[in-house]
Amino acid sequence: MIHQSFVPDIQTLNVQGEDQIRLHERAANVAAERFGRQVFLRAVVEISNFCRENCAYCGMRRDNRALARFRAKFEQIAELLIHHRPASITDVNIQAGEDPVAVREIVIPLIKALRRETPLGVSVCLGTLNPVLYAELLEAGASIYIIKFEIGDPTQYREMFAPGTYLERLENIRHLAANGWKVSSGFIVGLPEQNESRLLANFKLAGELPLDGCSVSPFIPGDETPLSNDPIANINLTLNSMAALRLMRPD
Ligand code: SF4
Repeated sequence: MIHQSFVPDIQTLNVQGEDQIRLHERAANVAAERFGRQVFLRAVVEISNFCRENCAYCGMRRDNRALARFRAKFEQIAELLIHHRPASITDVNIQAGEDPVAVREIVIPLIKALRRETPLGVSVCLGTLNPVLYAELLEAGASIYIIKFEIGDPTQYREMFAPGTYLERLENIRHLAANGWKVSSGFIVGLPEQNESRLLANFKLAGELPLDGCSVSPFIPGDETPLSNDPIANINLTLNSMAALRLMRPD
């Protein structure tokens, strides 16, 4: 169990006005004390929007037949990143739907090329794969795996058709952390049917997992998904959740 001095409650997550400003200042101070004022600019590079999963909250879900699907070409994307990226970029995050073909054909050669030709740090966000592919990605030179647990409540995880099963997702997160990766995870705020106990379950899980980073994404209804008519997440709840995570896990 990781030591935690701050445990968020529902009142804190819904705070507004002066109290909200104080919460955000406290969180910003904790982050600045720990990390200083240095920032890294991570460029997100979308390699493929093919996905074998069917998450209810995502427009890239496999049942979305209206979406034009695309896989980048290795030569084009390597040329772009090696010779034409903005000078301010320190890191790249290579991202795709859950598309193992793209991992083998594009991502692994791309990571090798970037490590050979550039000083860029490389993170990947490629979904739930398998230990062999994880090892090949690490060997190629990536060091951070971004794998959101998405939903901390197992029942809602199933209801939302989140990737694979809840237990599989957590096993993969633990496997990555135990096998040389820095793991960054996260969850979605404002999903339909996310009651108070389901919201708090995200923080509990974030506190238990072996993570180097954790982010909060606001729910945004995607076209051509089962949730397309549901309301967008409350931005204050999202920002307060980010502040709460910073206080909960200053590291
Ligand atoms: S695995 Fe990722 S890309 Fe695929 S449907 Fe789910 S959220 Fe979307």
